[in-house]
Amino acid sequence: MSKRDYYDILGVGKDASKDEIKKAYRKLARKYHPDVNKEEDAADKFKEAKEAYEVLKDDQKRSQYDQFGHAGAQGQGFGGFGGAQDFGGFGDIFDMFFGGGRRRDPNAPQQGADLQYTMVLDFEEAIFGKEVDITLPKEENCESCNGSGAKPGSKVKTCTHCNGSGQLNVEQNTPFGKVVNRRVCHHCNGSGKIIPEKCKKCSGTGKVKKNKKIHISIPAGIDEGQQIRVTGKGEPGKNGGPAGDLFVVVQVRAHEFFERDGDHIHCELPLTFTQVALGDEVEVPTVHGKVMLKIPAGTQTGKVFRLKGKGAPNVRGYGHGDQHIQVKVITPTKLNKRQKELLKEFNAIGGNQSTDDHSSSLFKRFKEAFKGE
Ligand SMILES: [Zn+2]
Ligand SMILES: [Zn+2]
Repeated sequence: MSKRDYYDILGVGKDASKDEIKKAYRKLARKYHPDVNKEEDAADKFKEAKEAYEVLKDDQKRSQYDQFGHAGAQGQGFGGFGGAQDFGGFGDIFDMFFGGGRRRDPNAPQQGADLQYTMVLDFEEAIFGKEVDITLPKEENCESCNGSGAKPGSKVKTCTHCNGSGQLNVEQNTPFGKVVNRRVCHHCNGSGKIIPEKCKKCSGTGKVKKNKKIHISIPAGIDEGQQIRVTGKGEPGKNGGPAGDLFVVVQVRAHEFFERDGDHIHCELPLTFTQVALGDEVEVPTVHGKVMLKIPAGTQTGKVFRLKGKGAPNVRGYGHGDQHIQVKVITPTKLNKRQKELLKEFNAIGGNQSTDDHSSSLFKRFKEAFKGE
Protein backbone atom coordinates (compact mmCIF):
# COMPACT_ATOMS: atom_id res chain seq x y z
CA MET A 1 0.00 0.00 0.00
CA SER A 2 1.49 3.32 -0.99
CA LYS A 3 1.66 5.94 1.70
CA ARG A 4 -0.09 9.25 1.36
CA ASP A 5 1.83 12.48 1.37
CA TYR A 6 2.16 13.85 4.91
CA TYR A 7 1.17 17.35 3.83
CA ASP A 8 -1.92 15.99 2.08
CA ILE A 9 -2.86 13.99 5.14
CA LEU A 10 -2.84 17.12 7.30
CA GLY A 11 -4.32 19.21 4.50
CA VAL A 12 -1.61 21.89 4.68
CA GLY A 13 0.71 23.41 2.09
CA LYS A 14 4.40 22.52 1.80
CA ASP A 15 5.26 25.90 3.28
CA ALA A 16 2.92 25.55 6.26
CA SER A 17 4.18 27.04 9.51
CA LYS A 18 4.62 24.93 12.62
CA ASP A 19 1.51 26.54 14.01
CA GLU A 20 -0.57 25.62 10.98
CA ILE A 21 0.69 22.06 11.13
CA LYS A 22 -0.15 21.79 14.79
CA LYS A 23 -3.62 23.23 14.27
CA ALA A 24 -4.33 20.92 11.36
CA TYR A 25 -3.21 17.91 13.39
CA ARG A 26 -5.26 18.86 16.43
CA LYS A 27 -8.33 19.14 14.25
CA LEU A 28 -7.80 15.70 12.77
CA ALA A 29 -6.90 14.19 16.14
CA ARG A 30 -10.15 15.46 17.57
CA LYS A 31 -12.12 14.15 14.63
CA TYR A 32 -10.61 10.69 14.39
CA HIS A 33 -9.63 9.91 17.94
CA PRO A 34 -10.81 6.30 18.50
CA ASP A 35 -12.44 7.25 21.76
CA VAL A 36 -14.59 9.78 19.98
CA ASN A 37 -15.02 8.43 16.49
CA LYS A 38 -16.43 4.91 16.29
CA GLU A 39 -16.16 4.60 12.52
CA GLU A 40 -14.18 1.64 11.33
CA ASP A 41 -11.29 3.51 9.73
CA ALA A 42 -11.06 6.24 12.36
CA ALA A 43 -8.16 4.58 14.18
CA ASP A 44 -6.19 4.26 10.95
CA LYS A 45 -6.85 7.84 10.02
CA PHE A 46 -5.83 8.92 13.49
CA LYS A 47 -2.57 6.98 13.24
CA GLU A 48 -1.91 8.35 9.80
CA ALA A 49 -2.36 11.93 11.03
CA LYS A 50 -0.19 11.27 14.07
CA GLU A 51 2.57 9.84 11.91
CA ALA A 52 2.45 12.84 9.57
CA TYR A 53 2.50 15.22 12.51
CA GLU A 54 5.42 13.46 14.22
CA VAL A 55 7.51 14.09 11.13
CA LEU A 56 6.35 17.55 10.09
CA LYS A 57 6.55 19.07 13.57
CA ASP A 58 10.24 18.20 13.76
CA ASP A 59 12.49 20.48 11.67
CA GLN A 60 15.06 17.78 11.01
CA LYS A 61 12.58 15.06 10.12
CA ARG A 62 10.61 17.48 8.01
CA SER A 63 13.59 18.55 5.94
CA GLN A 64 14.57 14.90 5.42
CA TYR A 65 11.02 14.12 4.37
CA ASP A 66 10.97 17.12 2.03
CA GLN A 67 14.17 15.85 0.39
CA PHE A 68 13.70 12.11 0.39
CA GLY A 69 9.99 11.50 0.92
CA HIS A 70 8.81 8.62 3.07
CA ALA A 71 12.13 6.81 2.64
CA GLY A 72 13.89 9.79 4.18
CA ALA A 73 11.44 10.00 7.03
CA GLN A 74 11.99 6.36 7.94
CA GLY A 75 15.72 6.35 7.59
CA GLN A 76 18.30 6.69 10.30
CA GLY A 77 17.79 9.11 13.06
CA PHE A 78 14.09 8.43 13.24
CA GLY A 79 14.42 5.72 15.83
CA GLY A 80 11.50 6.75 17.94
CA PHE A 81 9.24 7.42 15.04
CA GLY A 82 7.53 4.29 13.78
CA GLY A 83 8.61 2.37 16.85
CA ALA A 84 5.87 0.41 18.54
CA GLN A 85 6.02 2.76 21.48
CA ASP A 86 4.91 5.67 19.40
CA PHE A 87 1.87 3.88 18.14
CA GLY A 88 0.59 3.40 21.64
CA GLY A 89 -0.08 6.35 23.80
CA PHE A 90 -3.60 7.20 22.75
CA GLY A 91 -4.00 8.00 26.39
CA ASP A 92 -1.29 10.68 26.29
CA ILE A 93 -2.76 12.22 23.21
CA PHE A 94 -6.15 12.04 24.80
CA ASP A 95 -4.89 13.92 27.83
CA MET A 96 -3.18 16.46 25.61
CA PHE A 97 -6.17 17.31 23.49
CA PHE A 98 -9.13 16.54 25.63
CA GLY A 99 -7.90 18.26 28.73
CA GLY A 100 -6.18 16.71 31.70
CA GLY A 101 -9.60 16.26 33.28
CA ARG A 102 -9.73 12.61 32.24
CA ARG A 103 -7.17 10.96 34.44
CA ARG A 104 -6.10 7.36 34.52
CA ASP A 105 -7.72 6.90 37.89
CA PRO A 106 -11.35 8.00 37.84
CA ASN A 107 -11.36 8.17 41.62
CA ALA A 108 -8.43 10.58 41.91
CA PRO A 109 -9.21 14.16 42.95
CA GLN A 110 -9.89 16.38 39.95
CA GLN A 111 -9.94 20.14 39.74
CA GLY A 112 -13.24 21.65 38.58
CA ALA A 113 -13.52 23.41 35.23
CA ASP A 114 -12.70 27.11 34.88
CA LEU A 115 -15.52 29.47 34.00
CA GLN A 116 -15.45 32.64 31.96
CA TYR A 117 -17.67 35.66 32.28
CA THR A 118 -17.62 38.79 30.14
CA MET A 119 -18.26 42.05 31.95
CA VAL A 120 -18.99 45.26 30.07
CA LEU A 121 -17.99 48.42 31.94
CA ASP A 122 -18.54 52.10 31.29
CA PHE A 123 -15.40 54.15 30.66
CA GLU A 124 -15.48 55.68 34.15
CA GLU A 125 -16.24 52.36 35.84
CA ALA A 126 -13.02 50.94 34.41
CA ILE A 127 -11.12 54.01 35.66
CA PHE A 128 -12.46 53.97 39.20
CA GLY A 129 -13.23 50.27 39.69
CA LYS A 130 -16.42 48.81 41.01
CA GLU A 131 -17.82 46.31 43.48
CA VAL A 132 -20.45 44.20 41.79
CA ASP A 133 -22.42 40.99 42.29
CA ILE A 134 -22.98 38.77 39.29
CA THR A 135 -25.20 35.73 38.92
CA LEU A 136 -23.76 32.66 37.25
CA PRO A 137 -25.25 29.25 36.58
CA LYS A 138 -22.84 26.87 38.31
CA GLU A 139 -22.73 23.14 38.79
CA GLU A 140 -23.39 21.73 42.20
CA ASN A 141 -24.11 18.31 43.62
CA CYS A 142 -27.64 17.11 42.95
CA GLU A 143 -29.57 17.19 46.23
CA SER A 144 -31.86 14.38 45.20
CA CYS A 145 -29.07 11.76 44.84
CA ASN A 146 -26.32 13.49 46.86
CA GLY A 147 -24.21 13.73 43.73
CA SER A 148 -24.09 9.97 43.08
CA GLY A 149 -26.30 10.12 39.99
CA ALA A 150 -28.25 7.05 41.13
CA LYS A 151 -31.99 7.08 41.71
CA PRO A 152 -32.59 7.45 45.47
CA GLY A 153 -32.71 3.97 46.98
CA SER A 154 -30.70 2.38 44.13
CA LYS A 155 -26.96 1.78 44.11
CA VAL A 156 -24.04 2.77 41.94
CA LYS A 157 -22.18 -0.33 40.69
CA THR A 158 -18.55 -0.78 39.77
CA CYS A 159 -18.08 -1.18 36.02
CA THR A 160 -17.42 -4.88 35.36
CA HIS A 161 -15.68 -4.21 32.04
CA CYS A 162 -12.81 -2.24 33.51
CA ASN A 163 -13.18 -3.28 37.16
CA GLY A 164 -13.62 0.33 38.14
CA SER A 165 -10.36 1.57 36.64
CA GLY A 166 -12.08 3.46 33.81
CA GLN A 167 -9.50 2.10 31.38
CA LEU A 168 -9.50 -0.85 29.01
CA ASN A 169 -6.51 -2.59 27.51
CA VAL A 170 -7.03 -3.00 23.79
CA GLU A 171 -4.76 -5.13 21.64
CA GLN A 172 -3.98 -3.69 18.25
CA ASN A 173 -2.13 -5.08 15.29
CA THR A 174 0.47 -2.72 13.89
CA PRO A 175 3.16 -3.32 11.27
CA PHE A 176 5.46 -3.82 14.24
CA GLY A 177 3.49 -6.50 15.97
CA LYS A 178 0.81 -6.48 18.64
CA VAL A 179 0.59 -3.42 20.81
CA VAL A 180 -1.51 -2.99 23.89
CA ASN A 181 -3.23 0.33 24.16
CA ARG A 182 -4.93 1.66 27.21
CA ARG A 183 -8.18 3.27 26.22
CA VAL A 184 -10.92 4.99 28.13
CA CYS A 185 -13.58 2.37 28.96
CA HIS A 186 -16.58 3.16 26.78
CA HIS A 187 -18.98 1.21 29.00
CA CYS A 188 -18.59 3.69 31.84
CA ASN A 189 -16.98 6.59 29.93
CA GLY A 190 -13.92 6.33 32.13
CA SER A 191 -15.77 6.84 35.39
CA GLY A 192 -15.33 3.24 36.52
CA LYS A 193 -18.96 3.28 37.64
CA ILE A 194 -22.24 2.09 36.20
CA ILE A 195 -25.55 3.57 37.30
CA PRO A 196 -28.31 1.03 36.61
CA GLU A 197 -31.10 3.38 37.70
CA LYS A 198 -30.39 7.02 37.03
CA CYS A 199 -31.54 9.86 39.23
CA LYS A 200 -34.35 11.64 37.41
CA LYS A 201 -33.43 15.10 38.58
CA CYS A 202 -29.86 15.13 37.20
CA SER A 203 -30.18 12.36 34.56
CA GLY A 204 -27.42 10.44 36.31
CA THR A 205 -24.78 13.14 36.13
CA GLY A 206 -24.94 13.86 39.85
CA LYS A 207 -24.76 17.58 39.04
CA VAL A 208 -27.36 20.28 38.60
CA LYS A 209 -26.92 23.90 37.44
CA LYS A 210 -27.92 26.52 39.94
CA ASN A 211 -27.68 30.28 39.77
CA LYS A 212 -25.05 31.48 42.20
CA LYS A 213 -24.29 35.02 43.26
CA ILE A 214 -20.61 35.90 43.10
CA HIS A 215 -19.05 39.11 44.34
CA ILE A 216 -16.46 40.66 42.03
CA SER A 217 -14.10 43.51 42.87
CA ILE A 218 -13.16 45.35 39.71
CA PRO A 219 -9.82 47.09 40.44
CA ALA A 220 -9.50 50.77 39.50
CA GLY A 221 -7.61 51.27 36.24
CA ILE A 222 -8.60 48.02 34.58
CA ASP A 223 -8.58 48.18 30.80
CA GLU A 224 -10.24 46.58 27.78
CA GLY A 225 -9.33 42.91 27.33
CA GLN A 226 -7.82 42.42 30.79
CA GLN A 227 -9.18 39.66 32.95
CA ILE A 228 -9.71 39.16 36.63
CA ARG A 229 -9.12 35.72 38.07
CA VAL A 230 -11.42 34.83 40.92
CA THR A 231 -9.77 31.82 42.51
CA GLY A 232 -12.00 28.91 43.40
CA LYS A 233 -15.18 30.34 41.86
CA GLY A 234 -15.24 27.98 38.85
CA GLU A 235 -17.01 24.62 38.78
CA PRO A 236 -16.59 22.45 41.87
CA GLY A 237 -13.91 19.75 41.80
CA LYS A 238 -14.50 16.00 41.79
CA ASN A 239 -13.48 13.46 44.41
CA GLY A 240 -12.38 16.19 46.78
CA GLY A 241 -10.36 18.09 44.14
CA PRO A 242 -10.22 21.90 44.26
CA ALA A 243 -12.75 24.07 42.43
CA GLY A 244 -11.79 25.72 39.13
CA ASP A 245 -11.34 29.47 38.76
CA LEU A 246 -13.61 32.12 37.35
CA PHE A 247 -12.13 34.45 34.75
CA VAL A 248 -13.90 37.76 34.32
CA VAL A 249 -13.00 39.28 30.96
CA VAL A 250 -13.45 43.05 30.85
CA GLN A 251 -14.81 45.05 27.95
CA VAL A 252 -14.98 48.82 28.18
CA ARG A 253 -17.53 50.98 26.38
CA ALA A 254 -16.06 53.78 24.28
CA HIS A 255 -16.36 57.32 25.68
CA GLU A 256 -17.57 60.23 23.61
CA PHE A 257 -14.50 62.40 24.31
CA PHE A 258 -11.92 60.37 26.20
CA GLU A 259 -9.70 57.63 24.89
CA ARG A 260 -7.56 55.28 26.98
CA ASP A 261 -3.91 54.65 26.18
CA GLY A 262 -2.80 52.44 29.03
CA ASP A 263 -2.88 54.65 32.13
CA HIS A 264 -3.03 57.84 30.05
CA ILE A 265 -6.19 59.43 28.75
CA HIS A 266 -6.36 61.40 25.52
CA CYS A 267 -8.87 63.99 24.50
CA GLU A 268 -9.19 66.66 21.86
CA LEU A 269 -9.86 70.28 22.72
CA PRO A 270 -11.61 72.34 20.04
CA LEU A 271 -10.48 76.01 20.11
CA THR A 272 -11.20 78.95 17.85
CA PHE A 273 -8.60 80.81 15.85
CA THR A 274 -8.88 83.82 18.13
CA GLN A 275 -8.52 81.74 21.28
CA VAL A 276 -5.22 80.23 20.14
CA ALA A 277 -3.95 83.48 18.57
CA LEU A 278 -4.72 85.70 21.56
CA GLY A 279 -4.50 83.14 24.33
CA ASP A 280 -7.25 82.11 26.72
CA GLU A 281 -8.07 80.18 29.82
CA VAL A 282 -10.54 77.35 29.34
CA GLU A 283 -12.25 74.72 31.41
CA VAL A 284 -11.39 71.17 30.33
CA PRO A 285 -13.03 67.95 31.48
CA THR A 286 -11.02 65.17 33.12
CA VAL A 287 -12.35 61.99 34.68
CA HIS A 288 -11.42 63.55 38.02
CA GLY A 289 -13.47 66.70 37.40
CA LYS A 290 -13.00 69.96 35.53
CA VAL A 291 -9.62 71.68 35.39
CA MET A 292 -8.70 75.18 34.21
CA LEU A 293 -6.15 75.13 31.40
CA LYS A 294 -4.19 78.19 30.27
CA ILE A 295 -3.83 78.43 26.51
CA PRO A 296 -0.81 80.63 25.72
CA ALA A 297 -1.11 83.16 22.89
CA GLY A 298 0.18 81.68 19.63
CA THR A 299 -0.71 78.04 20.41
CA GLN A 300 -0.62 75.89 17.27
CA THR A 301 -3.17 73.30 16.29
CA GLY A 302 -1.99 69.81 17.28
CA LYS A 303 -0.24 71.11 20.41
CA VAL A 304 -0.57 68.63 23.29
CA PHE A 305 -0.95 69.79 26.88
CA ARG A 306 -0.28 67.31 29.65
CA LEU A 307 -2.26 67.31 32.86
CA LYS A 308 -0.07 65.30 35.19
CA GLY A 309 -1.82 62.67 37.26
CA LYS A 310 -5.22 63.28 35.67
CA GLY A 311 -5.27 59.95 33.82
CA ALA A 312 -6.33 56.51 35.00
CA PRO A 313 -4.92 54.94 38.15
CA ASN A 314 -2.45 52.17 37.43
CA VAL A 315 -4.28 48.88 37.92
CA ARG A 316 -1.31 47.51 39.91
CA GLY A 317 -1.23 50.56 42.14
CA TYR A 318 1.71 52.42 40.60
CA GLY A 319 0.30 55.94 40.68
CA HIS A 320 -1.76 57.62 37.99
CA GLY A 321 -1.35 58.25 34.27
CA ASP A 322 -1.71 61.71 32.73
CA GLN A 323 -4.36 63.34 30.63
CA HIS A 324 -3.17 64.53 27.25
CA ILE A 325 -5.15 67.33 25.67
CA GLN A 326 -4.59 67.97 22.01
CA VAL A 327 -5.57 71.35 20.57
CA LYS A 328 -7.71 71.29 17.46
CA VAL A 329 -8.26 74.69 15.90
CA ILE A 330 -11.67 74.96 14.34
CA THR A 331 -11.79 77.05 11.17
CA PRO A 332 -14.91 79.27 10.93
CA THR A 333 -17.13 78.24 8.04
CA LYS A 334 -20.01 80.72 8.12
CA LEU A 335 -18.43 84.18 7.99
CA ASN A 336 -20.69 87.17 7.47
CA LYS A 337 -19.78 90.13 5.33
CA ARG A 338 -18.30 92.21 8.13
CA GLN A 339 -16.20 89.33 9.44
CA LYS A 340 -14.82 88.71 5.97
CA GLU A 341 -13.91 92.37 5.62
CA LEU A 342 -12.07 92.30 8.93
CA LEU A 343 -10.12 89.17 8.00
CA LYS A 344 -9.17 90.66 4.62
CA GLU A 345 -8.01 93.80 6.38
CA PHE A 346 -6.12 91.60 8.89
CA ASN A 347 -4.36 89.93 5.99
CA ALA A 348 -3.68 93.26 4.24
CA ILE A 349 -1.86 94.66 7.25
CA GLY A 350 0.36 91.56 7.39
CA GLY A 351 -1.59 89.61 10.00
CA ASN A 352 -0.86 86.29 8.34
CA GLN A 353 2.90 86.91 8.30
CA SER A 354 3.02 87.54 12.01
CA THR A 355 4.17 84.04 12.90
CA ASP A 356 7.24 83.10 14.89
CA ASP A 357 10.62 82.37 13.26
CA HIS A 358 10.10 78.64 13.12
CA SER A 359 6.70 78.83 11.44
CA SER A 360 7.67 81.54 8.99
CA SER A 361 10.76 79.64 7.92
CA LEU A 362 8.55 76.57 7.44
CA PHE A 363 6.24 78.64 5.21
CA LYS A 364 9.24 79.92 3.28
CA ARG A 365 10.80 76.51 2.72
CA PHE A 366 7.43 75.11 1.65
CA LYS A 367 7.03 77.88 -0.94
CA GLU A 368 10.58 77.37 -2.20
CA ALA A 369 10.11 73.63 -2.58
CA PHE A 370 7.04 73.91 -4.80
CA LYS A 371 8.09 76.99 -6.77
CA GLY A 372 7.42 76.74 -10.48
CA GLU A 373 5.24 73.67 -10.26
ZN1 LIG B 1 -15.71 0.73 32.66
ZN1 LIG C 1 -29.33 13.37 40.97
